[in-house]
Amino acid sequence: MPRVAAEILCVRSLTAAIALGLLACSPREERATHTTATQELSTGWIDVSAALDPAKTPVYEGDAPMKFDFLREIRKGDIVTLSAYSMGAHSGTHIDAPMHFVADGAPIDQVELERLIGAARVIDIPDSVRAIDAAELSRHDWKGAKRVLFRTRASLRGWMDSVAFHRDFAYIAPDAAQLLADGGVVLVGVDYLSSEEFGATAPRTHQILLGRGIPIVEGMDLRAVEAGDYDLIVLPLEVRGHEGAPARAIMRKSSGDPATPNGATDS
Ligand SMILES: [Zn+2]
Repeated sequence: MPRVAAEILCVRSLTAAIALGLLACSPREERATHTTATQELSTGWIDVSAALDPAKTPVYEGDAPMKFDFLREIRKGDIVTLSAYSMGAHSGTHIDAPMHFVADGAPIDQVELERLIGAARVIDIPDSVRAIDAAELSRHDWKGAKRVLFRTRASLRGWMDSVAFHRDFAYIAPDAAQLLADGGVVLVGVDYLSSEEFGATAPRTHQILLGRGIPIVEGMDLRAVEAGDYDLIVLPLEVRGHEGAPARAIMRKSSGDPATPNGATDS
């Protein structure tokens, strides 16, 4: 076995041991309940990530395809199971760092964790709405929220869990992006593969948000949550020097105290 494979095997065994250890330490009542697409733990944390699955996960038109290969497989007689992945940085649930559309913007490994962990508000956008513009934004209670996540037609239609790419997703119009940035929002999230209108002549929404250092979480699966206040943790892979990375995102209902949601500290 090549040294790297042996090392990976060792790390994997360690990870498995840690996972087992966590399971062993969990209280009896700590069990997972399954919703249609996401998991809600008894602790209230809800997985709002889209699974990376070439058969189920949509890819933005023209972006790199997802490829997941087994290099070795125990089920085929190898001593180890070992995979190689290839995909675009903006696959599934992912985060755009400023570098995506801003010259000299921060890469994904330099996005502050403080932005990615803390209070978030889910805003319900009706199925009929494609443009989340200033007028649409004014119909919702978002002011004062640190992190704003838009639950749109994509969640209502389960689009992050179906391989076809839809051009008519709801997007954040530049005038709304400006209001969010001016309103002190530290992170914005959407439930389809881009926050920008498909075919927009210029990437103004990205430029406005990323230009203010506001990371954009795209491709969240918000089917299992409703409008309201939550704690959010969304952590991208720490890929050095690149403009984006896939991420895992979990949320739980806020305890209602905006200063210390569920005891968590916030920026
Ligand atoms: Zn992106």
